Amino acid sequence: MNLISFSIKTKGAHNFARRLGTVFTRFGVSEIPTRQALYTIIDSLQQYNAEPTFFIPAVVLCRHPQLIAEIARSGVEIGIHGYIHNDYRLLSESEQYEQTRQAIAVFENTPIAYHGFRNPYLGWTEEALHIFAALGFLYESNEAVIHDVIDLDRFTPLLRNGYEKSLELFQAINCTAYALRPHFEGALLRIPTSIPDDEMLFDRLRITDSKRVGGIWSKIMQRVYELGGLYTLNLHPERGILCKQALDILLSHAHKQPLPVWVARLSDVAHWWKERSWFRLNIIPQGADRWLVEANCTPRATLLARQIIVEDQPAIPWIGADTCIQARRCLVRAVKCPCIGVSQATPQEVTDFLYEQGYPNVRCSPEDAHAYPFYLDIPEGLGTNRKEQMLRRSALVEHIEQLEAPLLRFACWPNGSRAALAVSGDIDSVTIQDFFLRIIEVHS
Ligand SMILES: [Zn+2]
Repeated sequence: MNLISFSIKTKGAHNFARRLGTVFTRFGVSEIPTRQALYTIIDSLQQYNAEPTFFIPAVVLCRHPQLIAEIARSGVEIGIHGYIHNDYRLLSESEQYEQTRQAIAVFENTPIAYHGFRNPYLGWTEEALHIFAALGFLYESNEAVIHDVIDLDRFTPLLRNGYEKSLELFQAINCTAYALRPHFEGALLRIPTSIPDDEMLFDRLRITDSKRVGGIWSKIMQRVYELGGLYTLNLHPERGILCKQALDILLSHAHKQPLPVWVARLSDVAHWWKERSWFRLNIIPQGADRWLVEANCTPRATLLARQIIVEDQPAIPWIGADTCIQARRCLVRAVKCPCIGVSQATPQEVTDFLYEQGYPNVRCSPEDAHAYPFYLDIPEGLGTNRKEQMLRRSALVEHIEQLEAPLLRFACWPNGSRAALAVSGDIDSVTIQDFFLRIIEVHS
C-alpha cells in the first residue's frame, strides 16, 4: 500500500487533501523552516534546563546529517524512526529485522548516539519488540496512552471520525497509573507515549488556537501528576512554531506544581528506570513494632513512607499520607512490617513486578499474613495475554498506591519528583522534497 492510499485510509480523504496544503506552509525547499521550528522547541525547553527527544527515519537523517548532528551536539536526543517512514505492521518479521538493521547502519555512520526506537504511526508489533531487544536498543516508545480530556460531542461527525481513525491506528490503551509508567519486557524498556498528539488536535479536530492546545496539554499534565506517571508529549517539529505558546503553557504548568516534575529526555528516563530496577530495601526486625531500614539504592532515589514514624532521621511531607525519607538507613516504628507479604505459591513474575514498581516484598506463609499491610496470594500470576496483564497490573498498582497501612516504597522518579514530562516528536520530513520522497520510498 502506498502512502497516498494509506493516508486516505487512516486520515480520511478530506484530511489528506488538507494535509497536502499544510506541507507547503510548514516546510520549505531548504532546511530553514524546519531548523527554526526545531530551535523553537529546543529554546522553550532550555528555559527549564531540559532537552527534547526527536525521532527521525534513517533516510531523512542521510539527507540532513549536519542539521541533526548540530542539534544532537546541543543536547537533543535523537532516536530512530524506521529506515523509511513505513508501518511495521505491514511487514514480515524478516523485513522488520532487515530495515531496523539498515537504520542502525545509517546512524552508526554519523556521530549521533541512539538509544531508542519509535515506529512510524506508533505501529509496533510483537516481532519488532524482539528485534529491538536483539539489536541492543535500550528502549522503545510506542505504547499510546489515550487521555480522554476532550469533549468529542462538540465536534462534527466528520472531524470526530478522523480522530477516531487515529485512536485505531495508534492501538490506544487506557490511562491508568500503571500504563503511565515505563516497564521492562526482558532487556527492552517500553516507555509509554501519550495521545492525542499535535496532529490529532491541530489537523484532525482543527483546534488551532495554541492557548487552547496549551490548556489541553496542561489538563493532561495535571492528571499525570496526580497519578505520579510520565507524560510523553508528542509534538511534531513541523508544528513547533504553531505550538510554541502551547508548549510554554505546558512547561509553566508543570513547573508550578507543588512537587517537582522531572523534565527529561526519553534516554534519561530509560537510564533512570534501569538504575531504579536494582533498588532494594532491607527491613530488619528490632523488637516489637520496630524495624531497622537499610536502603540499597543510589543517592537520587526517592524513598517514601506511609503510616510510619521515622525515629532517628527527618521525614519531609510529600503527597497525601506519604513522607519522604532522605536517609538511607533509619529506625522506624509501625504497627505492621512495612512491606508486602507474598505467598510461596505466587509466581516470581509477581515479585519481579513488585520490585520494578518500587514495592519491597517478602515471601511468607498465610499464617503470617496478618503481620503485613497487604498479602498477595495469586498462584495464577498476572494473566496470560497483554490485555489481561494490563488490567491486573493496573489494578494491583492502584490498590497498593491507595493502601491505608504502613508501607515503605520507592517513588517512580528521582530527587523527590512526583511526575515526569518528556517532550518528544518525530522529524518525518525536513523539507518539501523529503515529504514527497516518502511516497516513493514507501511505494518502492
Ligand atoms: Zn512519523
